[in-house]
Amino acid sequence: MSPTIVVFTGAGISAESGVPTFRGSGGTWEGHSIDQVCNAYSWKRNAPIVHEFYNRRRLALKDVKHNRAHKYVSDWQHKHGAKIITQNIDLLHEQSGADDVLHVHGRATDMKCEACGNVWDIGYAEWSYEADRCAKCGSKRGVRPGIVFFNDPAPNYRILYKAISNLKKDDILIVIGTSGTVIDIAKIAEFQACKKILNNLEPDLHNPTSMNVRLFDHVIYGPATEAVVSIDEIIQAHLNGG
Ligand code: NAD
Ligand code: ZN
Repeated sequence: MSPTIVVFTGAGISAESGVPTFRGSGGTWEGHSIDQVCNAYSWKRNAPIVHEFYNRRRLALKDVKHNRAHKYVSDWQHKHGAKIITQNIDLLHEQSGADDVLHVHGRATDMKCEACGNVWDIGYAEWSYEADRCAKCGSKRGVRPGIVFFNDPAPNYRILYKAISNLKKDDILIVIGTSGTVIDIAKIAEFQACKKILNNLEPDLHNPTSMNVRLFDHVIYGPATEAVVSIDEIIQAHLNGG
């Protein structure tokens, strides 16, 4: 039986497409505190700012193009049946040709109504806090970006944990572009005997909550668009019994 490959990605894989990473500037995201724009408890209090912030994120993603790293990952899906699990809210894995992508933090193009539970795709359009309403129940103030905020339930984490816990000795976990601050993937996969490969831009020495890179068999520092070439070689060697 051919090995199972799971690819877990974070903001770093989209950095070379021009999408800023999360922690780049001291725990803020594009100049806003995460607490202000990404918190399930406080979003309603900050609703105009929250909508304005995600409107800008959504519009900024409209013309962004996937890069070579996304393309390699979708090729691994088509060639080797790799499962793609991403923390990213952009749709660059899909744009690069991937058919099946699990977004554990939702998608930038989705809206969600807390009044009735309706979730729908608005594409790359702006949401008007003053005028727009939930198409199902008419709520105005209950509508928010459909992504997972801090303190929100994250139902897809269960699928992530299951995919990781099923990895056996001959399987491969590939992690690209994540600090591990939000999801500590190294810890989750710590006791799986599979081959583990990590790519990040550089060591995260000053971040005490980043993951333990020593839990990986291969650690490749450098841009994802280059690292995927080396990762592809590791996959090939592994599949050839190396
Ligand atoms: P993070 O910002 O905490 O860490 C980014 C990681 O990517 C770092 O380890 C860094 O070394 C690495 N990196 C940066 N540039 C890289 C490159 N060119 N090639 C390879 N690696 C590179 O990101 P995170 O761990 O994914 O956490 C961010 C959270 O914020 C996620 O949960 C996500 O939902 C959200 N987010 C999403 C996007 C997006 O959709 N593109 C962007 C920013 C934040
Ligand atoms: Zn509704």
